[in-house]
Amino acid sequence: MGLKIVKGMRDLQGEEIEPFQLIEAKAREIFALYNFQEIRTPILEQTELFARGVGEETDIVGKEMYLLEDRRGQSLAMRPEGTASVVRSVITNNLMQQNKLLRYFYFGPMFRFERPQKGRYRQFYQIGVEYFGVSTPDADLEMILMLKHLFREINLQKVSFQINSIGCQAEECRPAYKVKLQEFLQGVKEDLCENCIRRIDTNPLRVLDCKVPKCSQLTNDAPRIDESLCGDCDEHYKELQSLLKEHKVEYSVNSKLVRGLDYYSRTVFEVYSDGLGAQNAAGGGGRFDGLFQVYDADPVPSIGFALGLDRLAMLIDVPEKKEQGIFVVGHDRTIVGKIVASCREAGFSCMYDPFLSSMKSQFRQANRLKVKKVLILGGDELKNNTLSVKDMASSQQTTINREDLVQHLNESKE
Ligand code: AMP
Repeated sequence: MGLKIVKGMRDLQGEEIEPFQLIEAKAREIFALYNFQEIRTPILEQTELFARGVGEETDIVGKEMYLLEDRRGQSLAMRPEGTASVVRSVITNNLMQQNKLLRYFYFGPMFRFERPQKGRYRQFYQIGVEYFGVSTPDADLEMILMLKHLFREINLQKVSFQINSIGCQAEECRPAYKVKLQEFLQGVKEDLCENCIRRIDTNPLRVLDCKVPKCSQLTNDAPRIDESLCGDCDEHYKELQSLLKEHKVEYSVNSKLVRGLDYYSRTVFEVYSDGLGAQNAAGGGGRFDGLFQVYDADPVPSIGFALGLDRLAMLIDVPEKKEQGIFVVGHDRTIVGKIVASCREAGFSCMYDPFLSSMKSQFRQANRLKVKKVLILGGDELKNNTLSVKDMASSQQTTINREDLVQHLNESKE
């Protein structure tokens, strides 16, 4: 059998991985400014966690999860998203008992058995943030401001930002809206796609963001959820919008944005980018004030978002690498090895040619690595216990005593 990679999965290395590293590094910086801490949860969770939290009727749980049985017959899922795992961790570790507020971020792979295409993979990477403990729209604002800050920092252009409110579980709010929407959908049932016909009963809100053009057109006339909110949800939504205006955040209202997963309540938002083609959602999030109760835990008002790192990586430009590091050129394996080791010990990135090929070839390698300095150990240098140091930008060369190397490097550091 010929070896091949699993469909929909990617190996990332070389230039491809650079935008991932850059975005992760910037995200760490920004999250620290807002006092978010890293959390790492396992890739495997009990299948039940997602079935209950995300919802059996969602595509993610119903069709896309990677499931396996462990050796004892327990059903496990490779996480398709991060929020349920983080909430599970807060509950199983009793973290809300010790804190009034919790602010977490995570990076990591997620798994969904979707049809692969550009920007859509079966293993993809998310950057996510969850904020637990605050019910007022200040938390929603903070999330959105942080997201915008990160986008600015990674120089992400052409992003647009949409928000909506999908109400709460109170009888007079989303449940009442669902009934109104179902009535409307029954009236146009014949013209909906097959999936949407099924969704009328199972998950009617999802019909609103169906991408099939005729469904999308028909639902333009559907009752609007943002016009059917209960008093508290309406107030929350209005307050958030006035805060966004106060902070000069540009956004548009999309009353058909529902985000698909069961656990959302009130505020939902998504970020799109022109540069992404068909898969144009760079990230999304929202409130999930009811999720802890789904797991029989005390309620905790919560909000979060997740960004698709694979997609952000397609959008950003990685600045050219600055020349850095040292390359040692020579043919005496022992002395070259010692010089390389002392450079590294002193904190300088250093490389050499383990094949000790011709001088010309070693210089070629140094050029390819874009090093700042080449240390030359030729015949004269070997004889005199010296080293020639060539500055690659200026092509200037000086000769120094070998034992003065670290001091010389430190002095010529920028
Ligand atoms: P979701 O919570 O499903 O909206 O996912 C959040 C973000 O993750 C999306 O906006 C995408 O950028 C990214 N994402 C979701 N599914 C995939 C996938 N299969 N491949 C690549 N990125 C994805």
